[in-house]
Amino acid sequence: MNTREHAEQIHMVLKALPHYQVSMKRAQWFPEHKAQFGTIDPSFRGCLPPGIEQLYAHQAQLLSLTSTVSAVALATGVASGKTYALALPFRIARLKQKQATALCLVSTKALARQWQRRLQAWDPTWRVEIYTGDTEGKKFRLAQADVVIVTPEKLHHGILPQHQLWHTFLGRLHSVILDDCQEYRGVFGSHVALVLRRLQRVLLHYCTTLPLFMLGSALMGNPREHAEHLLAQPVELIDAEQNGSAFGGCLHLLWQPPAYRSLVEETALLLAKIVEQGYRVVVFSHARQSVEKIVDRAYRHLPSHLHQQVRPYRGGYTLDEREETEERLVKEQVQCVVTTRALEVGLEMGKIDVVIIAGFPGSLISYYQQAGRAGRQWQSALCVFVPQVVNALDASFLNHPERLWQAPTESLWLNAYSPALLTMHLRCAAAELPLTLQDERWFGRQMDLLLKELVQNRYLIQDDDHYRAHENIASQVHLRSWGLEVAIWKDDRRNVPPLERTDRYHAVLECYPQAVYYSRAVPYRVTRFEQTRDEIQVERFWGAYETKPFLTTQVDILKEVEATDDGPFRWARGKVRVTHHVVGFGKKRKHANGGQAAFLGREDFSQPYSYSFETNALWMTFAEEWLKPVRQDRVKSVLHAVEHGWLLASPLLIQGDRDEMNGVSVTPHHPQTHQASIFLYEECAGGNGYGERLYSRVRELSTMALSLLEACPCQDGCYHCLQIPYCRYLNENLEKRGAIQLFHRLEKRFL
Ligand SMILES: [Zn+2]
Ligand SMILES: [Zn+2]
Repeated sequence: MNTREHAEQIHMVLKALPHYQVSMKRAQWFPEHKAQFGTIDPSFRGCLPPGIEQLYAHQAQLLSLTSTVSAVALATGVASGKTYALALPFRIARLKQKQATALCLVSTKALARQWQRRLQAWDPTWRVEIYTGDTEGKKFRLAQADVVIVTPEKLHHGILPQHQLWHTFLGRLHSVILDDCQEYRGVFGSHVALVLRRLQRVLLHYCTTLPLFMLGSALMGNPREHAEHLLAQPVELIDAEQNGSAFGGCLHLLWQPPAYRSLVEETALLLAKIVEQGYRVVVFSHARQSVEKIVDRAYRHLPSHLHQQVRPYRGGYTLDEREETEERLVKEQVQCVVTTRALEVGLEMGKIDVVIIAGFPGSLISYYQQAGRAGRQWQSALCVFVPQVVNALDASFLNHPERLWQAPTESLWLNAYSPALLTMHLRCAAAELPLTLQDERWFGRQMDLLLKELVQNRYLIQDDDHYRAHENIASQVHLRSWGLEVAIWKDDRRNVPPLERTDRYHAVLECYPQAVYYSRAVPYRVTRFEQTRDEIQVERFWGAYETKPFLTTQVDILKEVEATDDGPFRWARGKVRVTHHVVGFGKKRKHANGGQAAFLGREDFSQPYSYSFETNALWMTFAEEWLKPVRQDRVKSVLHAVEHGWLLASPLLIQGDRDEMNGVSVTPHHPQTHQASIFLYEECAGGNGYGERLYSRVRELSTMALSLLEACPCQDGCYHCLQIPYCRYLNENLEKRGAIQLFHRLEKRFL
């Protein structure tokens, strides 16, 4: 059978649906290609993993490069045999240097377990240890291992501050392996880049030359540049062009839910139909609560004996549960898993026939990572993308599928020289080994100035040309913004482990009192929320409705960093504090098919539930006389529409994740700017640097927003041009025509 046949067989399942003609918008076949093998030195054959006899061309090329360069990146995407390729040079090195060690950096604990399983199966004589959050207190034993698998957090506050304990391991280090480097982007990526600079500094204290750095990553626009930004040294690249692994082909479908069915309902229906036919499916959704609801709805379509074949998987569940699901996936004992981006990285799942992507995951990099989870080398697969039609960016793919299937993947961004982050890591570095001006190699030219400030503030002590620290603050520096701190308890049972853990941000937005909250596809109702003690109590809920919070967002300016004055229009960027207030919630009938009848009413809290975080923002202010042509009662809805226009255009301009940027418009005037203002802020504690990148491109941003609005023939703004699902004001009060006029006036000023 030709390879496309398998995908077409599954496609038949969808063709049998009564609404197929309406919903199936476009299809694109990504053709299969055969494996291309490279040559390998016969004496290394014994080093290959069990069951593998040849190397793909890109794997062989990587191996030959490692004898001449000190850092290589393999950006060949999912399922291209990266694990073995990255670890093979170490395996070979061990033939000669029996005591060589390797350090393997992974972004999640699940990946750590997978690396351990694979390496241990490859060579049972190796001592492969995992050092993540769950293995405190065994440090001495860990430091004796041959391979240590570590998360960036543990490298940062576990290994580096106590490097003396690890001196033997570090002194014998042959290679540092970093997989899934696309995860190291934005603020988190900038932190990781600084941790890697600290690691290299410490390594040079124990060895004369640096070990081999081996990086693996998804397909992206700038793999070499990204790797070099992470390591602060030149990196040799092997990219998708050189990928020699086989690919069975994949049929991508663009599927629009019928107007009367939500994204969640439609996804559940599709997955149920496919599971019924015995195929294995992975569903990706970017919202955690949607994961739960999709499973809940799928159960309604499936006979009960198939319920245990469909599982939710996301952060927040206990380690045991996640491990069990991972194991069942690999052994193909579950047919379908519904998940967030958590499973997007290279976790094994056995053979997958279909991937359903419910809502655009924010970037093409993620889209292709997710799609790549389906199929096998000799068999084709199906990928169904169901856009969230209330989102203008998602909906734009319906008219422009080429933006999804022909556009290049994004470039990733990180900034290891951001003074805020650099200051923290300089303090950590100085505590590890005294800093000298030679360390500019790692921390850049501004280090000198920052060190002087740190001495002035008495965080560092200067003696001659050495800078030392009193204490190591690594444990106070968090690399990822929101940690899992809030426990959700079921009923009053404190003698059992909590139902799950969440973070403070999601606790406020999803677990306010009386909220309906899903865990493992079971609905609960929040009975108590103690914000001061970080505790939530829930009970099983049997009602037929769901809840949605009503929010207001407040932005306080903490520091203006720079500003451009253009007379009546001014834009600035800087530090802000964002506070989300949950002021009440609405009840929506479950299983309702849209329309007003679905809404059951609203309840308000006497005191709002609030969450604040500090981040970066870009803000635009408008002088009163300039807004005069806009009718007084329309100013609010015009500025709201302008804000949406900017928000929708920004991911296209800076190629960022759309979820990491949000906005709020303040009328008639903001208490600090004293003018009508629009804030675009970075929706993560500490910020991700998007505001800084947008600041210099406000003109382009406006032009792009205007063209998005004008391209749509609608009069009043629709989901193709103006609506966004995360709008705090439920896409109400948006005035498209007024926004277009305002953008035109801005454009004239900019010319
Ligand atoms: Zn429209
Ligand atoms: Zn809005």
